[in-house]
Amino acid sequence: TVGDGSSPTIFDKIVSGEIPSNKIHDDELCIAFRDVNPQAPVHFLVIPKNRDGLTQLSKAREDQKALLGHLMYVAQELGQKECPGGFRIVINDGKDGAQSVYHLHLHVMGGRSMQWPPG
Ligand code: 5GP
Repeated sequence: TVGDGSSPTIFDKIVSGEIPSNKIHDDELCIAFRDVNPQAPVHFLVIPKNRDGLTQLSKAREDQKALLGHLMYVAQELGQKECPGGFRIVINDGKDGAQSVYHLHLHVMGGRSMQWPPG
């Protein structure tokens, strides 16, 4: 995946269903599905269905504030349901943020006691 946002990513194929995923949420704006390489007993991703320039959080436009709020709201709803003892939400942004897929996604992790600070 190139990081300049010029090409679609594997997440577009997950949205379209071309690539299967273990989906736990689907609404008009976003989906959530389990991470293929989980870093915690519970680890899922919340992504906008339409990337629309949101290759990464730092590319967000003012007119996308409501969408960003929606993603965060869905993330906590699912997080509470799956991890009643608490959870962590992470957004990796850019090279130094360890981002690998350039389609905005919130990581939600839990199901164990998380450590802080992270690596
Ligand atoms: P990033 O490093 O960009 O924040 O995280 C990308 C995440 O997407 C990684 O945790 C990786 O395991 C996950 N991922 C990459 N490709 C796939 C895929 O095809 N299916 C699923 N379910 N997760 C993926």
